[in-house]
Amino acid sequence: MAHSNDFQIRANSQTQVVNVGPYSIGGSEFAVIAGPCSIESESQFLETAEAVKSHGACLLRGGIWKMRTSAKAFQGLGPSAFELIQRVLKKTEMMLVAEVTDPRQIEELDGVVSMFQVGSRNMHNYSLLKELGQSKKPVLLKRGFAALVDEWIKAAEYVTTHGNPNVILCERGIRTFNSNLRYTLDLATAVQARSLTHLPVIIDPSHATGRPELVSPLACAALAAGLDGVMFEFHPHPQSALSDGPQALHLDQLDDLTQRLSRLAEALGRDMEPVANDRPQA
Ligand code: PEP
Ligand code: MN
Repeated sequence: MAHSNDFQIRANSQTQVVNVGPYSIGGSEFAVIAGPCSIESESQFLETAEAVKSHGACLLRGGIWKMRTSAKAFQGLGPSAFELIQRVLKKTEMMLVAEVTDPRQIEELDGVVSMFQVGSRNMHNYSLLKELGQSKKPVLLKRGFAALVDEWIKAAEYVTTHGNPNVILCERGIRTFNSNLRYTLDLATAVQARSLTHLPVIIDPSHATGRPELVSPLACAALAAGLDGVMFEFHPHPQSALSDGPQALHLDQLDDLTQRLSRLAEALGRDMEPVANDRPQA
């Protein structure tokens, strides 16, 4: 394995805990991060936040600028969503992870998110990664869907060597020959990345498969494999979602996932992130 670990990324060492507000990712807890693909409206985001919070999610996800394959597809609400986001976060006492698609967005997004997300299509955007190295907020770095493990780790080093040690890796599926699935979850590489680095590793089974019914079994697989968490898409009304509706979990599937994960966590002696009522804001 041609892996360069001559900088801060350390192989086979104890996983570093990344703190996001009061939550620790990379320790004994298995983190659940959930929310819509895109933030669409205040009612959609509030309904989502309340549902995922009551199911034990420690962080809310939601896209503000979307990296869509088609220029004609919904591109996200952009900064016009900031006020509604602040109201929802305050009301539900939750924290947000959202994708930053351009270095020029970092400053304005800083007041809204507790963790920056770098999407699969931007894993190789080195100017974005360098800028995030200057941030004090953690960075969730998704794997490019055609990236080698070595390229993924080297992308993380762009953030860490520029001053920000708080990186979490996220495996979100790679291109393979299975045309029945959107991508293929590369669980083996997720586990390998955890031992080749000291960084926490989570999975995103929603984008990895495009199939809501596969999210729960793969989340359980990640927990059983010793990974640090899962991020998935939930929508209160998937059929009317403006992006990625077909892969979003609905309420029954969220119930099922939560029950399965907590039973497995108990059997494995892992903690789920606590549902705290007194969560401080980031
Ligand atoms: C997302 O999580 O909103 C997303 C677009 O995912 P990815 O970058 O993995 O395609
Ligand atoms: Mn999506």
